Order: sequence, then C-alpha cells, then structure tokens
Amino acid sequence: MPYLVLVAARYRVFSVRVAAVSSLTPNFVRVTLAGDALAEFSSVGLDQRIKIVLPIPGHGFTDLPDGEDWYAAWRALPDATRNPLRTYTVRSFRPDARELDIDFVAHGDTGPASRWVASCRVGDELRIVGPAVPSSPAELPTGAAEFDPGAANRILLAGDETAAPAICAILEALDVTAVGHVFIEVPTDADRLPVSAPAGVEVRWIARNGASHGVRMTDQVHAWASTVASAGVSGAAGSASSCGDAVELTEVDVDEQVLWDVPAASDDRPVYAWIAGEAGCVRELRRHLVRGVGLDRKQVAFMGYWRHGKAEN
Ligand SMILES: Cc1cc2nc3c(=O)[nH]c(=O)nc-3n(C[C@H](O)[C@H](O)[C@H](O)COP(=O)(O)OP(=O)(O)OC[C@H]3O[C@@H](n4cnc5c(N)ncnc54)[C@H](O)[C@@H]3O)c2cc1C
Repeated sequence: MPYLVLVAARYRVFSVRVAAVSSLTPNFVRVTLAGDALAEFSSVGLDQRIKIVLPIPGHGFTDLPDGEDWYAAWRALPDATRNPLRTYTVRSFRPDARELDIDFVAHGDTGPASRWVASCRVGDELRIVGPAVPSSPAELPTGAAEFDPGAANRILLAGDETAAPAICAILEALDVTAVGHVFIEVPTDADRLPVSAPAGVEVRWIARNGASHGVRMTDQVHAWASTVASAGVSGAAGSASSCGDAVELTEVDVDEQVLWDVPAASDDRPVYAWIAGEAGCVRELRRHLVRGVGLDRKQVAFMGYWRHGKAEN
C-alpha cells in the first residue's frame, strides 16, 4: 500500500516552489516544482510516486512537522491544521536543474489537490514527501515504484487519466525490444498526450467522450486478454475454477480498503500486466484477468489510484 511505504525512515519532506504551470490538454496540467532541497531527492523513475502536501488556506504550512518523525507528528495534529497529503507520480525529474514535473488531472473544485492546481501560480510554495538520496554510494536509490516486468516477453499497461503520467514515464524507460499493448483512457480526444514508445509496443489512447468511466478501457483489456489467452502465450492457469485465490479477490471492498495488489519480483512470467486507475474499475479488471481468464496473480500489478466519491486521506 502506498501509505505505508511513504512513512519509512528515508522519506522526508522537501520544500519546493512552483517554477512553471502549463496546460497540456483540457484536463491535464503540468506543474514544475523546483528547489535546492531537491538536490537530496532520490529518483527511481518509472511509476515513482510521491506525496504532495497541500497548503491550508490562510495557514500555509505553519504547523507541518519536519524531521524523521514528521509523519507521527503530522498525524497527531488537529484536522484544522493538518495539511492534506495526496499521492502523485513523478512524471520526470531533472536533478541538475533540481526540478520535477507532476501532471495533474484537473477534476474541478472537489478535492484539495485539484483545487490547488486550478489556482497555483509560479512562485507558490509546496511541500512534497519523497525518498532522500542514500547516505552511502553503495546503497541503491530507493523509491516507491511498482513496475517490474522481470523477464516477461509481453507486457500490458492499462489505466485511466490518473495513471497516464506513470504509463508515459514507464513507456519512455522501456527497452527498445519491448513488446506489448498499452490502453490509456482519458476524458476526451483532446487529452491524448505525446509519448514515445518502442516499435513493438502498441499504444492506444481511448477517449471516454462522455461514456462511463472505465467502460471503454475495460472492453479493450478484455479483448486483449482473450487474444493472449487463446494464443496460449499468457501463462494463464485456465478458468476461474483453477484459481485458488478467488475468495480473497471477492473480499476487496474498494470503498473501505486500498486496492493494491502488486506481485513480488519474478523472472518467471511470460506476460506482465500493470493496471491502475479508479479502484472500482481496477477491481473489475482484476476479477476478469485472474478469475475469468486465469492469469496468475504473480503476473499482474493492480493499483487503485483513486475511488469515485471518496477523498484520499
Ligand atoms: C500511486 C498513485 C499515483 C498517482 N498519480 C497521479 C498523477 O500523476 N496525476 C493525477 O492526476 N492523479 C494521480 N493519482 C490520483 C490522485 O492521487 C487522486 O486523484 C487524488 O484523489 C486527487 O486528490 P484531490 O485532493 O484532488 O481529491 P480528493 O480530495 O482525494 O477527492 C475528492 C473527490 O474527488 C474525486 N476524485 C479524485 N480524483 C479524481 C479524478 N482524477 N477524477 C474525478 N474525480 C476525482 C474523489 O472521488 C472525491 O469524490 C495517483 C494516485 C496514486 C495512488
């Protein structure tokens, strides 16, 4: 689960300022954050997530604790002075310039992050929580990233607009020999983002254009699953009856729990799938791929990035 990882000791609060704001499409806003503190930020690329800490109107970051115990101290604050935390993807990090980009979905005046991005200006203060560079050169950089296909020779990436920044960052990092399919559902045709991908990876932007969230992407993922299952290249165990973890799958209540089911690293999977977005939609895809098609859970990372009608907290 994302929350637990971010409270590890090596995670700290970084002070940054808005260096640029650009409207990428009708529903994506890129915010560039900069600050000398980012000299200590540890980037692992791919779908690396961080927390952004939002200012409290009229109060800013006055009570936000710092130091190693910041998280416990933050939790102990009264609601009125506890800055909201929200999870976002590092779209790109430029260590020399001490800058990072976040691509926000602007979803209106409904949550503190979306509200903030609608009115942020160059020079505004923000805080992020992320991993610090390792204290010794012998240690590897640490960060909260999940994409890990191992030796899979076929990949699937699927997600809605909140997963688009992560998918784009992953695509740009893939080996040129990678083979696979990518389905990204966005609100409108005008929300397709430019991204480069290896020649063997087919990228489909799916515009919702008023349809229910996730329906069009789900159809495409189902079609993909049928194709790989019938071609016998999925490593699928078979139908639902052969899948021993069916009971656990039905028990995830996405209104009460975070849907976050990420397999351990493995080099023993012909297909690797990474699926993120609205939790109800991700749950349905999880059921279909694992129980319906019989994909082994060690082949699929499922991540609920947000939930209709629920604030992240
Ligand atoms: C690992 C991870 C990486 C993520 N990366 C990104 C990213 O790079 N870019 C990005 O935009 N989001 C990303 N998200 C999703 C983002 O954290 C949520 O959308 C978050 O809820 C936004 O916070 P908020 O304060 O705007 O809304 P909240 O206060 O959390 O929610 C308020 C209301 O808004 C609704 N809501 C939340 N998000 C959306 C949405 N996208 N569309 C419509 N309604 C929504 C909620 O259902 C709720 O009713 C990521 C989430 C995770 C877990």
